[in-house]
Amino acid sequence: MKSLAERATRVRLLVLDVDGVLTDGGLYYGPNGEELKRFDVQDGLAIVEAQRAGLAIAIISGRRSLAVGRRAAELGIAEVHQGAGDKTSVLEALRERLGLAPADLAVMGDDLPDLPIMRVAGLCLAPANAVAEVRRMAHWVSRRPGGGGAVRDAVEWLLRSRRAWPPSVKSDGGGAPQSGLRRSADGGPSRSSGRAPRARRSPK
Ligand SMILES: [Mg+2]
Repeated sequence: MKSLAERATRVRLLVLDVDGVLTDGGLYYGPNGEELKRFDVQDGLAIVEAQRAGLAIAIISGRRSLAVGRRAAELGIAEVHQGAGDKTSVLEALRERLGLAPADLAVMGDDLPDLPIMRVAGLCLAPANAVAEVRRMAHWVSRRPGGGGAVRDAVEWLLRSRRAWPPSVKSDGGGAPQSGLRRSADGGPSRSSGRAPRARRSPK
């Protein structure tokens, strides 16, 4: 029987459900019927840093929402699979395409549709708000809920297990590595704005 630490260090791909994992599970509807979701910015920073550290991230959701595509693009997540009626076949196809073994996979889910893909993965993770059946199957349960830091918690734990946390963070994590947001943070204007203007004003 593998230890929890052995399972954690083996993981190469973390598969995330959306509703109840990346969000609190709430569904909001705009005036034109569009679905709105609330994502956690601290989860976002961890997702960006995970990919930098070589831990790939994928999203598999049973629902479809433009908001998910938008957030995934911000975070540099390429593997986004929405409207997955059969999550297992989606995950198996992904696993084969990427050449990964079941033990290379971690899955974080919160409800019954996630149980089949949790059975495939070498490591099963759950947020605090997961239903009892999912929490029972999980090897590791966050104390934090979906949309409230559960993904941040899980990624920190996975990266610590390979000594890749804390990272040397330069931006606020709101964007993907190549985004303009990160470039502006690297360039320094947002960081130095508190001091530089005063220094320029003083010789006047
Ligand atoms: Mg869910």
